[in-house]
Amino acid sequence: MSSNNNPYLLLTPGPLSTSHTVREAMLRDWCTWDDDYNLGVVQVIRSRLVRLATTSSGYTSVLMQGSGTAAVEATIGSVIPDTGKLLVINNGAYGARIAEIARYLNIPHTVLALKETEAPSPEVVNERLQRDQAITHVAMVHCETTTGMINPLEAVAGVVKQHGKIMIADAMSSFGGIPIDVDKLGIDYLISSANKCIQGVPGFGFVIAREEQLVQCKGIARSLSLDLYAQWRCMEDNHGKWRFTSPTHTVRAFYQALDELEKEGGIEARYQRYKNNQRYLVKGMSELGFNCLLSYKLHSPFITSFYSPEQKNYDFHCFYNALKEKGFVIYPGKVSDADCFRVGNIGEVYEQDIMALVHAVSESMYWK
Ligand SMILES: *Cc1c(COP(=O)(O)O)cnc(C)c1O
Repeated sequence: MSSNNNPYLLLTPGPLSTSHTVREAMLRDWCTWDDDYNLGVVQVIRSRLVRLATTSSGYTSVLMQGSGTAAVEATIGSVIPDTGKLLVINNGAYGARIAEIARYLNIPHTVLALKETEAPSPEVVNERLQRDQAITHVAMVHCETTTGMINPLEAVAGVVKQHGKIMIADAMSSFGGIPIDVDKLGIDYLISSANKCIQGVPGFGFVIAREEQLVQCKGIARSLSLDLYAQWRCMEDNHGKWRFTSPTHTVRAFYQALDELEKEGGIEARYQRYKNNQRYLVKGMSELGFNCLLSYKLHSPFITSFYSPEQKNYDFHCFYNALKEKGFVIYPGKVSDADCFRVGNIGEVYEQDIMALVHAVSESMYWK
C-alpha cells in the first residue's frame, strides 16, 4: 500500500492521500522575500501550471491563499464588473456555491438550475444565452464532486464562445487528472486547487487565466485579500511574490507534486490510472450489490456516488468505522434527494488499493 505513514488511505475528493515525498518536501522553512522561494519555486509552479493547461501562449496563472473556494470567490469577485451578468450552471453543491458567492458579493447573476443527476445540455445553455442578452460570463463546474458527474465542458464552452461570452470553469476536482486544453476549449478562467488531482496538500488554489481578459480586471474586486488581478499584478511585477503571507510549505510540497505528476507520465498517464481505479471500483462494488447513482457515461474518473444499502440496520457511520478500522476512509453522500455515500479514487491510490478496499467492503457488510 502506498499510504506509508498514514493509518488509513483517504478515498475522498481531497485533501487526499499524498506521497511520502510530497509531505517530506515541507520539512524546511522559506523566506517569502527570497529568490530561492519566489523565483525558484513560485514562478516555476506558475509556468508549469500554464503548460499543463494549454500548449498555446496567451495564458497566465495566479496562485491564491485559502481553500479552493477562496480561488473561486476571488475569480467570481474579480472578473465580473457591476455592468456584467453571470450565468451559473448549477447541477450540484459546487455550482450552487458559485451562485451563493455571486449573491454574497451582489454580482448580477442568473442560475440555470438542473437536477443533481442531470447533465447540462449545450442546447439549453444556448437557449438561455439567446434569451438573456445581458449575460456576459458563464460559470460551470467541470466535475461536480457532489455526485461525481463530469459535465460536458467542451460542448458548453463551445456554445459560450459562439456567443462571445467569457467562460469560467471550476475544474477543482478534475484539473491534473484529465487532459484539458483551455485555449482549444475556449476557457477564459480555469480554477483548481493544490489538494486535488495534482496531489499536493491543502492551502491554496490557482487560476489559469487568459491574459488579455485578466488585464482588464483592475479595480473590479469586491474584496482586498481575494483580488485576483492585484495578486496577479504583484506576482508579475515582483517575480512570484504573493501580496500577503503565502503558505510556503504547501507551495513547496506542490512543486514536488508537480515533479511527481511529470514522473508518472503527465496528465494523460494520471488520467489512465484514475480511470482504471474507478473502473475497478465500480466493478467490484457492483459485484457486491451496490448501485451507482449515475449511469456510467456520466461518471467522472475521480469520485463515485453509490446508493446506500436499503436494509434497515444499515448505518453510514458504522460502515464508515468498519472500513476505517481496515485502513480506508470513504466519504458521506452530498446528493439532496438520494441516500448515498461516495468513494474517491484520486491521490496516491492504485489498482491494488481499490482491490483491497472492495475486499474490506465485502467484510464490512454487517447489515446483510
Ligand atoms: C473541492 C472543490 C471545491 C473547493 O472546495 P474547498 O473545500 O474550498 O477546497 C470547489 N469546487 C469543486 C468542484 C470541488 O470539488
